[in-house]
Amino acid sequence: MNHLPPLTASLIATAEAHSAHNYDPLPVVLARAEGAWLTDVEGRRYLDLLAGYSALNFGHRHPRLIAAAKAQLDRVTLTSRAFHHDQFAAFCSQLAELCGMEAVLPMNTGAEAVETAVKTARLWGYRVKGVPDGQARIVVAAGNFHGRTTTVVGFSTDPEARAGFGPYTPGFDVVPYGDVAALEAAVGDRTVAVLLEPIQGEAGVVVPPPGYLAAARRITADRGALLMADEVQSGLGRTGRTFACEHEGVRPDVYILGKALGGGVLPVSAVVSSRAVLDVFTPGSHGSTFGGNPLACAVALEVIAMLRTGEYQRRAAELGDQLHAELASLAAAGPVLAVRGRGLWAGVDVDPAFGSGRRISELLLRRGVLVKDTHASTIRLAPPLVIAEDDLAWALDQLREVLTGG
Ligand code: PLP
Repeated sequence: MNHLPPLTASLIATAEAHSAHNYDPLPVVLARAEGAWLTDVEGRRYLDLLAGYSALNFGHRHPRLIAAAKAQLDRVTLTSRAFHHDQFAAFCSQLAELCGMEAVLPMNTGAEAVETAVKTARLWGYRVKGVPDGQARIVVAAGNFHGRTTTVVGFSTDPEARAGFGPYTPGFDVVPYGDVAALEAAVGDRTVAVLLEPIQGEAGVVVPPPGYLAAARRITADRGALLMADEVQSGLGRTGRTFACEHEGVRPDVYILGKALGGGVLPVSAVVSSRAVLDVFTPGSHGSTFGGNPLACAVALEVIAMLRTGEYQRRAAELGDQLHAELASLAAAGPVLAVRGRGLWAGVDVDPAFGSGRRISELLLRRGVLVKDTHASTIRLAPPLVIAEDDLAWALDQLREVLTGG
């Protein structure tokens, strides 16, 4: 780290000495942010092309979200669910309406919402579908990323996420992503749910073949299993629609939401479904001290209001066209093997002979652009939906220069 400025180097060294090494951050120490831009402790500015893995869809410190948070900070922040509070009814009813569903179970992080969905499916399977107790199965896809809890990493196919954390929770069947025949074969009498990301984010923004989600909808409906869409990363505007499932006209039985629901201000997640499905829970069967707290509800209500206008979805679609047109021309010119994505979201596979995703991220960092590799030579681009068109064009110029040596 000799090349780093002294303050940056010293803060990184202290963090390394006193934190677990479960991340390998790029060598930059950020101190302030607004919109799509961040400033580090040395005063250097960076354009954010990661957006907190889509938690910052509305950019950093969006004035509407900060105002909602500040107003709520002056009223009440936490009550626990032992009592009602005055933000809860609006949050649940308006989120359900945004999803075209009936009821909401609020949690905090994405992984907790996935765990909640797994518990929902199992309870529903035993109480409603009539699966013998302890026999419920859930079908998931290879390449999935649903979070980091012990149950969730147990059905991950990524050795880095999974190895060393066994024994793993039983009851999950893994099928190849995008393969309708494999899905059809895996869904049996005891299958209570199929859990899918409509686009696999961490896998490198992998879009399934056309018709896959619709087939998953048909198969689950035919066999009496729940279709659970993990839209923690794909949802809330990122793909140009409120939900990525909408691109195939699919309405799942359960939406799993997180990240952008908290507006980049605090963790807010939720499972959203029908009354009949969520009615399997009874007092004491599930919960969270912080889930559905007044501050979270107030911020999320503002997020929902912003999404209701359709403005951010339109922006993601329009800027997404610009992003994908640029990346297509780059693919023709540089060492790019493949580009995938939808809306303002792309995975770019770079020829490993050219350099690792990490190396490319470091080169972009030096030019003032923040991206992060996802797998070995894949970089993921997910700018805040509020990014200015010129800023996006500038960032893509930087990428082009890095990849073509310009
Ligand atoms: N589900 C999906 C699709 C995700 O992309 C993620 C995080 O990247 C999660 C769940 C887990 O969310 P969290 O990190 O908030 O637990």
